[in-house]
Amino acid sequence: MDLRDDQIERYARHIILKEVGGPGQARLLNARVLVIGAGGLGSPLVMYLAAAGVGTIGVVDFDEVSLSNLQRQILHITERVGMPKTESAQLAVKALNPDVNLVAHTERLTAANAMALVSQYDVVADGSDNFATRFLVNDAAFFAKKTLVSGALSQFDGQIAMFRAHKPGDNPCYRCIYREPPPPGLAPSCAEAGILGALAGVVGSLQAVEVLKEIVGIGESLSGKLVIYDALNAAWRTVKVRRDAKCALCGPTPIIKNLSQSLIGHPQPGEEFCEVPAA
Ligand code: ZN
Repeated sequence: MDLRDDQIERYARHIILKEVGGPGQARLLNARVLVIGAGGLGSPLVMYLAAAGVGTIGVVDFDEVSLSNLQRQILHITERVGMPKTESAQLAVKALNPDVNLVAHTERLTAANAMALVSQYDVVADGSDNFATRFLVNDAAFFAKKTLVSGALSQFDGQIAMFRAHKPGDNPCYRCIYREPPPPGLAPSCAEAGILGALAGVVGSLQAVEVLKEIVGIGESLSGKLVIYDALNAAWRTVKVRRDAKCALCGPTPIIKNLSQSLIGHPQPGEEFCEVPAA
């Protein structure tokens, strides 16, 4: 793939990196990434992936921009309040980088459509804000054999992890760490819990870094690790996470064999709970 003169200039700071170079930039331009949610995590994710020249970015979000989103969701602006978030994301990306095709999936991610959506992309980045969607994305990425880069937020704490349990070895899935979502009502809703806006930028940007590394094929994989950021204490830690031999999805005797079994007994997408995992 030959880069045009304007692309050589636009991506000069990538191309000069010996780990990326022209071939790495070409891989980014040919890559397809699916971002779940155009909210707090999805905003920095989409903006940095678009700036980096990821050629096709799919965005799944059924919601519209509201005024209270703008404290952290930097994809959107005041004059686009009321617009579908996918449409607002398209405008933001078009203004930033015409090389990028943002595919709007203006729908709720469900057990019925998740496989078809995830299968169209190379890498999945989850920026959703509720447990039901997180489990569903994990299961769909596993069945479709796609790497999943997952981010989560809670008030002043953030987490990032990578899951590729479809590959052999000690590569856990999300269910290996969190077997079940908490019952509805136990975890506070995001609206009740609140969040420091810039924290979403930190965690979403980390997700973007891991997605770019995965596409270019450089550095050490985050699979098998959980990075935890405590903003109030400005503290980071990385903990090892292992594959669970009893995992209902990726274990040797799985209980979940397709997505219709993925959500049994779980809250449905749209019942939004903030992530408060004890890790
Ligand atoms: Zn698992």
